[in-house]
Amino acid sequence: MKKIGIIGAGPSGIMAAISAKNENNQVTLFEGNEIIGKKLLMTGGGRCNITNAAYFDEFLDNVMTNSKFIYSAFTNFDNYGLIDFLNHNGLTTKIEDDGRVFPESEKSRDVIDFFEKKLKEKSIILKTGDRITKAYKDKYFYLTDQKNNTYIFDYLIVATGGRSYPRTGSDGYGYKLARKFGHEIIDPKPVLVPIFIKDRLKLKAQSFKNIRITIETTKGNFSIDGDLMINQNFLTGPCALKASSFMRDKTIKALSIDFFPNLTYNELEKEILVLINENAKKSIENSLKSILNNALIEEILRLTKIDINKKASELTKLERKLIIEKIKNFNLMFDKLGSFESAVVTRGGVDVKTINPKNMESKLVDRLFFVGEILDIDSLTGGFNLQVYFSTAYAAGTFIKENT
Ligand SMILES: Cc1cc2nc3c(=O)[nH]c(=O)nc-3n(C[C@H](O)[C@H](O)[C@H](O)COP(=O)(O)OP(=O)(O)OC[C@H]3O[C@@H](n4cnc5c(N)ncnc54)[C@H](O)[C@@H]3O)c2cc1C
Repeated sequence: MKKIGIIGAGPSGIMAAISAKNENNQVTLFEGNEIIGKKLLMTGGGRCNITNAAYFDEFLDNVMTNSKFIYSAFTNFDNYGLIDFLNHNGLTTKIEDDGRVFPESEKSRDVIDFFEKKLKEKSIILKTGDRITKAYKDKYFYLTDQKNNTYIFDYLIVATGGRSYPRTGSDGYGYKLARKFGHEIIDPKPVLVPIFIKDRLKLKAQSFKNIRITIETTKGNFSIDGDLMINQNFLTGPCALKASSFMRDKTIKALSIDFFPNLTYNELEKEILVLINENAKKSIENSLKSILNNALIEEILRLTKIDINKKASELTKLERKLIIEKIKNFNLMFDKLGSFESAVVTRGGVDVKTINPKNMESKLVDRLFFVGEILDIDSLTGGFNLQVYFSTAYAAGTFIKENT
């Protein structure tokens, strides 16, 4: 009976185990944490944005690094393949308007329970609280854990994740192991991170829908639309995370927010004039509150040095223009991007040039496989990352299942 060892019980290790198991082989899954899927539990704000319903081309457009490499694995187990797999095995899902897919219960805990059940059903040997500290190969693979137990395997799948959110267990151990086997590691960098600003805004966890961030870089400008959360000294939320992915490795010259990207300057001015005329006796803050939240109006008045107690009717033309300018072009001073501690995903990792894209096998070492975030593949937010990592895991698992 062939023995398969898998290091890491995150989504990719779990999917690899489930796909690799057949009645002729034995699959052992090692996890350093006491529980499986510690990071998976945190995904989608606890709701687990498990995949995205985008069609093929649009899906691949959201893969930022090595989208061509995952073409084959994604074709064999794409987003609809994953949704089918989940639904047919008892985990119902729902698709939100923007294409993001969640478990119907909106609980990532249910995804973990689902996978735990599947691992049990398939008689996969699960070793939690068992961290692998050494690995080498002669004819077989030898893995040693922190308690000094040694295990022997015919096949080894490394699914140890990247370096993002290291407190969940993905501390980069897999890179050391990959190097030991001769693989090159593309310098890992944190992406999908908060954007820190030098400003000290008087805003705390303020959420804005459908805004636009524009980033000026030395290599040109770009804009991202979406929902944003603004804090005193950092921006986060889908729009900021997505922007951060494009900002990595660029020199940032300027950063600004347009709170009304669907209105031109003149259209916004007309709307504000109507509000001012209708609410002439009210304070400026009160007259604008139907279109802007209070905290932002206060901040704009503070930044433009307009008296907060002024009545709408007392607003001068220049002051009105200053307010509109701030709403359409809220300039901020870029400080830095967030670190691995707050990164959703890692850019960089095992160089895919030495990995077979059909089954994720190493081109350097027979029967050694790398799956998931450890590979140099990253995507934008929206469920694309999990999907791509599930696809790589499925590719390795099914290949091993068919060959054992
Ligand atoms: C806050 C947050 C929210 C996210 N939300 C989403 C989302 O909604 N949708 C989405 O698509 N993506 C999301 N992501 C990204 C996604 O969760 C990860 O990309 C994904 O979990 C990577 O899967 P993985 O199995 O490759 O690695 P991981 O999930 O990191 O799992 C690797 C596992 O290997 C274990 N391990 C490491 N070394 C060893 C060792 N030596 N011995 C034994 N075990 C070891 C670790 O303990 C860990 O459990 C989010 C990430 C974060 C941090």
